[in-house]
Amino acid sequence: MIIAGTEIKPGEQKHIEIPVAKLYTDTNISIPVLITRAKRPGPTVFVSAAVHGDELNGIEIIRRLTRSPSFKITKGCLIAVPMVNIYGVLNQSRYMPDRRDLNRCFPGSEKGSLAGRLAHIFLTEIVAHCDYGIDLHTGAIHRSNLPQIRANLKDPETKLLAEAFGVPVLLNADLRDGSLREAAVDNNTKILLYEAGEALRFDELSIQSGVKGILKVLSHLGMVKKRRSTKKPHRTLPITVRGYAHLPAA
Ligand SMILES: [Zn+2]
Repeated sequence: MIIAGTEIKPGEQKHIEIPVAKLYTDTNISIPVLITRAKRPGPTVFVSAAVHGDELNGIEIIRRLTRSPSFKITKGCLIAVPMVNIYGVLNQSRYMPDRRDLNRCFPGSEKGSLAGRLAHIFLTEIVAHCDYGIDLHTGAIHRSNLPQIRANLKDPETKLLAEAFGVPVLLNADLRDGSLREAAVDNNTKILLYEAGEALRFDELSIQSGVKGILKVLSHLGMVKKRRSTKKPHRTLPITVRGYAHLPAA
């Protein structure tokens, strides 16, 4: 596997930086990516956060997941991207510096707007390698959401993954024009969107359910050792929402 010119061989873990457009101060800026590839072949999965720069829970979810002493990918490859909209993270803003919403700018293009270029880089360098993806979001500012998975539940495989995540609420959400989820589907990558908590705040419950959910999905895909659980699984409440334009933006 080659990402941004760096080769990652089976059994290797690499931290790479994908260069993106400079700040207006002429400071170089890049997106950090941690790739963990097992010796044994298997699915490739990305976990991304902060596509909206003020949505912080996902950054902490990825930190805990990858720093945990028990973190071991036994099959396939996990690509962790904790800050996709790095500009928004620096500015504590949902948006890109050009006021665009990155999650409406996919697939983007090589020579488009700043947001379009970043979308294009993320799609070609990360998503293009992946069979599955989990994109981490939160609610808006002052609007905390119960931990939930939004996904295309009409697709049986995506539905199984969504159930494996193990949060009580699953939303069947139609695709949105220009979203990462839509672009990933065109690449045949199955996507779950996890949304929990609110913007600009860390929320312990949302973080813990996020870490556990990702591990459960990876276990469902056979990429980590099965964790024995004595607890009964959650009952999930599938809710179908048409269009979901009236829901807080993901
Ligand atoms: Zn979001």
